[in-house]
Amino acid sequence: MIGIIGAMEVEIAHLRDQMQDTRVETVSGIDFYCGRIRGREVVLAKCGIGKVFAALCAQTMILKFGVECIVNSGVAGTLTSELHIGDVAIATACVQHDMDTSPLGDPYGLLSGINVVELPADQTMVQALDRVCREAGVNHRLGPVATGDQFVHTMERRRWISDTFGAVAVEMEAGAIAHVCYVNRVPFAVIRVISDEASGEAQIDYASFVKKAAATSSDIALRWLAA
Ligand code: SAH
Repeated sequence: MIGIIGAMEVEIAHLRDQMQDTRVETVSGIDFYCGRIRGREVVLAKCGIGKVFAALCAQTMILKFGVECIVNSGVAGTLTSELHIGDVAIATACVQHDMDTSPLGDPYGLLSGINVVELPADQTMVQALDRVCREAGVNHRLGPVATGDQFVHTMERRRWISDTFGAVAVEMEAGAIAHVCYVNRVPFAVIRVISDEASGEAQIDYASFVKKAAATSSDIALRWLAA
């Protein structure tokens, strides 16, 4: 069974529309939709906003539904001049930009205990998504995706995150899903379509483009399932 997580209704609606033989189970307030999409067994969930909801959703998918891998599909702010609204970021790794024990001499983003900053995405899934994006003809980049419990909307914070982690996109859930997958040794991948520039008019852009960006991300996920 493949796990697919979106943070918001708009990020899972199209995928759920394509699901057949759907049954729903609710755990910890999250609805898990089990069924077949493009002939593949899938459990699909809207986790909610931020790292804690994302982590509990991923852990539930692993423990209760025994997923073999997890894909996180959704929207993000861009951190690079190479990605604009509607373009696609495929994570090579995830980092948590708000994890900060640097006053103790640690590097920014260090996940103490497992002692890594970057949580690598599954290479095979990344390559498959890269291929899907190329075939779909969308402008896309592979690179680290940065996660934190904040909507990034200033050039100062955007620059700090991209300079510190070399990340191409910023959002609020992928790094938590990656963290859960890492400690459980479950392969994961992240598809994020740009909804805003993470600076300047980010709030306005986000409101205007979130729906379209989420639909593009779902389309990439559907193509990947069918491949
Ligand atoms: N109360 C709002 C919160 C949305 S937060 C709601 O419930 O709809 C924005 C969402 O889009 C998060 O899930 C995050 O992963 C993603 N996102 C898009 N642009 C972002 C940005 N510039 N910074 C951080 N997250 C962003």
